[in-house]
Amino acid sequence: MNGDGSAAQGGPEKHQFQAEVAELLNLMIHSVYSETDVFLRELVSNASDACDKVRYEAIARPELLAGDERLAIRIKPDEAARTLTIADNGIGMDRQELIDNLGTLARSGTKAFLKGLKDAKDGLGLIGQFGVGFYAAFMVADRIEVTSRRASSAEAWTWTSASGAGFEVSPATEAQAARVARGTEIVLHLKEDAVRYLQPYELERIVRTYSDHVLFPIELIDDKG
Ligand code: ADP
Ligand code: MG
Repeated sequence: MNGDGSAAQGGPEKHQFQAEVAELLNLMIHSVYSETDVFLRELVSNASDACDKVRYEAIARPELLAGDERLAIRIKPDEAARTLTIADNGIGMDRQELIDNLGTLARSGTKAFLKGLKDAKDGLGLIGQFGVGFYAAFMVADRIEVTSRRASSAEAWTWTSASGAGFEVSPATEAQAARVARGTEIVLHLKEDAVRYLQPYELERIVRTYSDHVLFPIELIDDKG
């Protein structure tokens, strides 16, 4: 079911998650863990990694940063749309990287983690301790749109998944592509019981708690702005 670039003719390409990912997502989506705050730590940590990567690659290829040298992570709630957006101007992902990185579990030890999660009474502790990476976002969102443009690429691509039932990849819309000059924008359509993550003070508290060590600026953008 892996797509091979047929999007231009046939609309979005549909993809299945790797079995382990589907299993993990199932746990995330139906999670009864109350400590869901860690999703933000995971997304900020990925954004920070992406900023590190572009900075590193730019040592050999300075043009990767040209015109946009200030690396930062932006968090933007939109109350009317009930979305929370986490964006970075880091390295970004091309189409194949979106499919590979957000469709499979590359992390070692995840299988053991999954087993532990199912056996443990305190799954929450395990999630907090090990983190489950990007997929933790499905604890708070029932639809996620990831738009990404790899540094210096002319193309931006959008990865979309609703409730973990597979994912679709398509060329970004004009509006999405215009917003993402380099890097990645993750739009979380928050579940009804996760609307507290639209509150700036709540976001600020979580960032202070979990992401204090991050070396790039983390900007909380005002809903009105
Ligand atoms: P990990 O960070 O441990 O590798 P994650 O599940 O958090 O695992 O992320 C999976 C992969 O997706 C990352 O390794 C990275 O390649 C890619 N990724 C996730 N978020 C971003 C981002 N904001 N920018 C670039 N790549 C990303
Ligand atoms: Mg990560």
